[in-house]
Amino acid sequence: MGNTVNDHRAPDCVFCTIVAGEIPADRVHEDDQVIAFRDQNPKAPVHVLVVPREHRRDVRELAEQPELLAHLTSVAARIASDLADGDFRLIFNTGATAGQSVFHVHAHVLAGGTLAEGEM
Ligand code: 5GP
Ligand code: ZN
Repeated sequence: MGNTVNDHRAPDCVFCTIVAGEIPADRVHEDDQVIAFRDQNPKAPVHVLVVPREHRRDVRELAEQPELLAHLTSVAARIASDLADGDFRLIFNTGATAGQSVFHVHAHVLAGGTLAEGEM
């Protein structure tokens, strides 16, 4: 029977739920490896989160798959070109002390305005 359960899905993970399409998100990119959607609480004119479809806790874990990390980075760059002037800030909050609140790795792509030093 069509078992669509993703082996790489983590229970109670909000971004796994978004990847599965079970809660809506304003998607700006998707492919077989990553999806990107607008942050619900934007801190810049363009504030997009790029996430791997498969659950990985943080960028340390993602770095075990260098090609996936590189792909995610190039998707971030393309989004900054498509939605803004091409310049962007890429942030991976890693660990609660550093401000990570969702433990499904995501790159924040901030673009479309002058980003002050020390700003998110
Ligand atoms: P973190 O603090 O883990 O680096 O970033 C988590 C980000 O995810 C926050 O900027 C927050 O606004 C965003 N976020 C959390 N839940 C949702 C959601 O359900 N939908 C969207 N679009 N963004 C979310
Ligand atoms: Zn997840």
